[in-house]
Amino acid sequence: MQNKTDDRFFDPNIPDDMASTIRPRSLADFIGHDSLKQNLGVFISGARSRSEAMDHVLLYGPPGLGKTTLAHIVANELGTNFRATAAPMLTKQGDLAAILTSLEPMDVLFIDEIHRLPTAIEEVLYSAMEDFKLDIMLGEGPSAKSVRIDLPPFTLVGATTRTGLLSNPLRDRFGIDLRLSFYSPEDLAKIIQRSANILGMPTSPDGALMLARSARGTPRIANRLLKRARDFAGALGRTEITADTIKTTLFQLHIDECGLDEIDREYMTTIIKHYAGGPVGIENLAAALSEPTDTIEDVIEPYLMQLGFIQRTPRGRIITDAGYKHLGLVK
Ligand code: ADP
Repeated sequence: MQNKTDDRFFDPNIPDDMASTIRPRSLADFIGHDSLKQNLGVFISGARSRSEAMDHVLLYGPPGLGKTTLAHIVANELGTNFRATAAPMLTKQGDLAAILTSLEPMDVLFIDEIHRLPTAIEEVLYSAMEDFKLDIMLGEGPSAKSVRIDLPPFTLVGATTRTGLLSNPLRDRFGIDLRLSFYSPEDLAKIIQRSANILGMPTSPDGALMLARSARGTPRIANRLLKRARDFAGALGRTEITADTIKTTLFQLHIDECGLDEIDREYMTTIIKHYAGGPVGIENLAAALSEPTDTIEDVIEPYLMQLGFIQRTPRGRIITDAGYKHLGLVK
């Protein structure tokens, strides 16, 4: 359904991937998280005024909340280059060494999913982060020798969905620790209005708020639903996205008023039907749903927990009374 809709109502004048246009470029454009922005602004101007590399930053939060966006903003506001990689792409110490030695002074190096760095590569980061030195082994066996190379001062911005999986030595080397939480519907509505204007499809305030309430507190989902609403508005011959268009969009995409989709409902009904409401371990649940445990832990569960529909207990996941009620079931 979604693909067909995309194909049929795709407007060739509007590139479908507007991600880079929609992505805020400055702290002023970054909506919500006011105290985090204020603090980050102070750290950025401090580093700028001292002409030093800013301290390393760890960004933590579920996917789609703005970690990559903030890393870009840090580089923009510092007026430096932005270099990006993701931990799964770094398989050998040499991969990281090649990136570190190609940095220019004050550059921002963004490492996404930093909790996935193999230990041997993580260890290379320790001296790089602390002393701007790169310790590498040349050769193998008895003739191997360790060399120390000077690196330019740089700022590492690490992003993770799981601080719990980060080793203490790595975590301790970040001077700035920023946690992104889910956005309020009001902030998401502002994000939607901003993106809608960039996409050239004005959205009514009540439409934006309705969409915001179904976007799981997540800007990436808000923007994605907005694009689908734009498709439906086009199909209905509208030049504005109204609450009616949003209702149609959410109905067609099987998204309910809390923002839960079919996968969320399947997750909850599986626990209820097959495990009497829980507790059930993550591995069993992953097998029953044919979803990787990472997806369940990073994408599905945080929002369901935020809504109070599920709980993670030491014995496994359970559905709460509120969760049963949302599905129209009694315990
Ligand atoms: P993450 O790296 O945490 O997965 P991203 O930084 O890629 O998330 O954000 C996803 C999208 O959501 C971005 O393309 C951006 O357009 C939008 N976005 C995220 N945070 C904000 C914000 N605070 N204000 C406006 N748009 C945002």
